[in-house]
Amino acid sequence: MIYKPFGATGLNLSILGFGGMRFEDQNNVEACADLVKACYDAGINYFDTAIGYGKSEEVMGVAFKEMAATRIQRPFYVASKTFASTEDEVRRDCETSLKRLQVDAIDFYHMWCLLEPEHFTERQTKGALRGFEKLKEEGLIRNICVSSHMNGNQIGEILKAYPFESVLLGYSAMNFAFRDAALDSAHRLNRAVVVMNPLGGGLIPQHPERFGFVRSRPEETVVDGALRFLFNDPRINVALVGIANRKQLNEALAAVNGFRPLSPEQVARIRGSVREAFNEMCTGCAYCDECPQGLPVPKLMDAYNQYMLSGKPISIIHRLNWHWGIVREGNHLDRCTECGACEKACTQKLPIIRRLNEIRAEVQRWSQSEGAKADTEEGDPE
Ligand code: SF4
Ligand code: SF4
Repeated sequence: MIYKPFGATGLNLSILGFGGMRFEDQNNVEACADLVKACYDAGINYFDTAIGYGKSEEVMGVAFKEMAATRIQRPFYVASKTFASTEDEVRRDCETSLKRLQVDAIDFYHMWCLLEPEHFTERQTKGALRGFEKLKEEGLIRNICVSSHMNGNQIGEILKAYPFESVLLGYSAMNFAFRDAALDSAHRLNRAVVVMNPLGGGLIPQHPERFGFVRSRPEETVVDGALRFLFNDPRINVALVGIANRKQLNEALAAVNGFRPLSPEQVARIRGSVREAFNEMCTGCAYCDECPQGLPVPKLMDAYNQYMLSGKPISIIHRLNWHWGIVREGNHLDRCTECGACEKACTQKLPIIRRLNEIRAEVQRWSQSEGAKADTEEGDPE
């Protein structure tokens, strides 16, 4: 395992982190806890979960109870999250998580899933940060952190506005352009960066032909290449992999064990290949993000990417709902006047208006379908 200093915390964390939202069968508590312990034995010391990940916290608590016996010699660190807005709600969520996790303190407690700058202002106004600070004074949490799906510049502003110790954000060989500015800001401010979805939510291993450009050596798999691209980045501290079983653990460990630093030329080649490999796809560069009607064009085009890769129209809805959280906030799509400004700005020259119309049709179909409610309940909250 490789360890890196984690921002200004004085801690050394493993570059591979355990993401606790993808257990194969959360009801099989013993098997899931064994997987967590196997990760710990392999040298992983960053364990991420959340109050909203089903039974994940309970499962991890079973493992942590056993791991406590060796915690002094082999430290491990627990990360969890809350959506709560008020001081009381933050405390209530934290106490619930502590009980489930069977630990005295949460090492990295996150203000979870800021989707827009206004979400930060709102939670700050309602008292969430005061709640986090009191919990820290009482020793129930050790570091105040944030997780966000905003673009890189917006996240940079949040990091300037509050001294979060670390930031958790989605970053991979698929979407790095969208968030690069956040990594730059965090690095400048000496805040730690944990990246989630390093394999593009599974799309990278599912499409090795399209993502073959991430491989730097002939013997590498796309998983090796995609993870090593992140391990190599000095701005990234931990790459969080949602490990569901031993096979995935072994694949992620192989990527760490065979890691060799990439040359600047290799990094430049991977970054430069994205445009070509994505061909008809959005690269997340965000040059179109100035819609006069306020449509979040890069997020909508990212959702369309998921459709292009999966071939399933419903993947648009899943992405908008569970990654970007925008379907339920009103139908932004109706506001498009087809002015064409986004298409003019698009570096890929994508037919954005046509795609927006397709997305609108899919959103309408989904909203009217009997399955909408069931889909909401079964979704995959990132
Ligand atoms: S065409 Fe629609 S989405 Fe694009 S900039 Fe104009 S109003 Fe916004
Ligand atoms: S400018 Fe084009 S490629 Fe860039 S984010 Fe917008 S739609 Fe995607």
